Amino acid sequence: MTEGSPQSPVVPVYTQEYILAKFPPMSTMSASAIITALTNASAEEMTMIRGLLAVPTTPVKAPRVKVPAAPKKALPMPEGEPTAEDYRMAVASIDLSVCVGRDLKGGEDKRFKPIVYRESQCGKAIAEDGLCKVCAKRNAKYEETGKPGPWNGRVTEDPLDSCHMLGTAWAETSKPVFGAGSAAVSEAGSVASAKEVEKTEKAAAK
Ligand SMILES: [Zn+2]
Repeated sequence: MTEGSPQSPVVPVYTQEYILAKFPPMSTMSASAIITALTNASAEEMTMIRGLLAVPTTPVKAPRVKVPAAPKKALPMPEGEPTAEDYRMAVASIDLSVCVGRDLKGGEDKRFKPIVYRESQCGKAIAEDGLCKVCAKRNAKYEETGKPGPWNGRVTEDPLDSCHMLGTAWAETSKPVFGAGSAAVSEAGSVASAKEVEKTEKAAAK
């Protein structure tokens, strides 16, 4: 308490001069002196200091935690000739909490010529309307231009006409032949091509 004026404490004016007087330029202070000064600073002083240092008063946003993509579960490749149904995901196996974009990567069945694909679910974190950022962009472009490009539709819907899948308009036109592809196993049982089938399966299982 200061003598003479016990009931009227001096309210400091938080000017730049005031702060600089109380907190000399940091380059002239030791680290411990800076810490002591900052520790003893009042809330108002800290606000002023933040203003001088242009430190944002709002807490810095924590880095976004990446949602790991669900492990890909490639559909099994049947030994015999698959049907269109075989290469569609079962409704119960579709995870609606992640992107439902149709992914054909790794789903090649090279026993067909031309190659036929089995679908899998994109599975990345949803950005909008059940789709991840990439799929949403592809879908928007498709809707805008009518050209599918890399867009293959949603696994919750039938494949697009252009999808290289069984039962599509593409299949009707291209007529993929089972057993005519590079991974076809001949009736005699080609070791090389059997290996290739195995390789494809392993790659798809990754
Ligand atoms: Zn996606």
